[in-house]
Amino acid sequence: MGIRGILRELGVDLKMQKGKDIVVTSPIDGDVIASLKADDASSMEQKIARCQNAFEIWRDVPAPKRGEFIRIFGDELRKAKEPLGKLVTMECGKILEEGKGEVQEMIDICDFAVGLSRQIGGSTLPSERLNHNMQENWLPLGPIGVISAFNFPVAVWAWNFALAVICGDSVIWKPSDKTPLCALACQAIFNRAVKKYDGSVPAGLCEIAFGFVNIGEQLVNDRRIALVSATGSSRMGAIVGPQVAKRFGKTLLELGGNNAAIVTPSADLDVALPSILFGAVGTAGQRCTTTRRVFVHDSIYNELFGKLENAYVSLAEKIGNPLKSGSLIGPLIDENSYESMQNALQIAAGEKGKIIGGKRVLEKKFPNSFYVHPALVRMPEQTPIVQKETFAPILYVMPYKDLADAIKQQNDVAQGLSSAIFTKDISEAAIFKKYSDCGIANVNIGTSGAEIGGAFGGEKETGGGRESGSDSWKAYMRRQTSTTYYGKDAPALAQGVSFSA
Ligand code: NAD
Repeated sequence: MGIRGILRELGVDLKMQKGKDIVVTSPIDGDVIASLKADDASSMEQKIARCQNAFEIWRDVPAPKRGEFIRIFGDELRKAKEPLGKLVTMECGKILEEGKGEVQEMIDICDFAVGLSRQIGGSTLPSERLNHNMQENWLPLGPIGVISAFNFPVAVWAWNFALAVICGDSVIWKPSDKTPLCALACQAIFNRAVKKYDGSVPAGLCEIAFGFVNIGEQLVNDRRIALVSATGSSRMGAIVGPQVAKRFGKTLLELGGNNAAIVTPSADLDVALPSILFGAVGTAGQRCTTTRRVFVHDSIYNELFGKLENAYVSLAEKIGNPLKSGSLIGPLIDENSYESMQNALQIAAGEKGKIIGGKRVLEKKFPNSFYVHPALVRMPEQTPIVQKETFAPILYVMPYKDLADAIKQQNDVAQGLSSAIFTKDISEAAIFKKYSDCGIANVNIGTSGAEIGGAFGGEKETGGGRESGSDSWKAYMRRQTSTTYYGKDAPALAQGVSFSA
């Protein structure tokens, strides 16, 4: 089925958004699949105003009723899983299995949010004063601005949207200009859920802002947007964070990663190998959690490198059209991405790296798109290029002698998203978890492929935000401390202060 059929199945009417500003090409073959109108300052003003208005209505709907809406939205997503997964694949190039996996993440976060809608609550705390009680209230925050990256064109928005909506907030979303069709499809699914909801959903609860950086900037600078949840490069976060802080707004930043795995002498290589492989070449190396660095103990370096080399050579048959079964590696998003990969490999070679793979493939079949053989680099030590996030499938493999030093090197990058150790030694696992400076520290599991139940995010230049599971919902609410006096005499002052006139 072509793009038109998929959009029809998803209920997307392109007519409303047709225009010349955003030309959408599929990374699969470089074909233009749509051309859309972008927002401008005045349409953005209307959308933000609608979103603000929706917030003022939605915050009064009881949280379990808000959860009921997300339950219906999740059911609609279940029905749309196949075509939406295909659209994800067509627009961002990840293989169909991963495209559908991304929709499954949306469904999972909806389930999580439905349960949460009956649980969000604060603590009751002991007061130091007689006949007083003190409690924390969690209240809806305001309109939430979501800015998302091309590589997770639907799941990241859903992580934000499902939690924000049960928390009583409205959401305005600026998707990547590379993947606006996915956003249109999400809105069509949202609209179907609205029709089925036994209640009323205010207009503006789910707004979408189409366009480029200037549209993102408008969200960033608008005081009505209480929280800007921005996913993308650390370069983008370094601009967005201070801009929002200037107006005392809140941010949730999910930025770049340069993730490492450590393989110790006791590791089961049958566990380590497939995990490293999926982490390094899955999504063609275009995940924030992609494994980009491996530190292997000296004693097993050659053995593991040999196994990785064999696996990398056999990947040649698995590169291809991501819609076809059997393909494990789809294209890079665009030519810029290909150029930055080639540039990094050239620098790595100059820093004594020995490169296997890394070349462009299938260029006769797909002259307008960029498929590459993932690169495996035997690197004698961690050099400056290894410390940089290149958003492409390059895996640098380096030897280590001492675990403490391996962990130190793992931490010696600007980002702090995901990390992993492969070991059977519980003491090594415990030391790794204690000293890894990342938001995610896995044992005998690769760096990529998180579940929605845990809080997702990382430290340092990854931005410090947490999304998805655990208590990430708190980012979408404001905390209020409330002390009540229920006695009859003049109330006591805190700290025993006496103030009698
Ligand atoms: P990008 O930074 O180029 O763009 C991300 C989004 O930010 C886009 O919607 C873009 O239009 C917008 N944007 C860019 N500059 C802006 C500005 N000044 N003001 C407002 N909005 C702005 O990133 P990309 O190329 O789409 O995605 C790849 C990057 O995203 C990688 O670095 C990857 O690690 C990161 N990423 C992180 C996570 C995470 O959860 N930590 C998830 C996915 C991707």
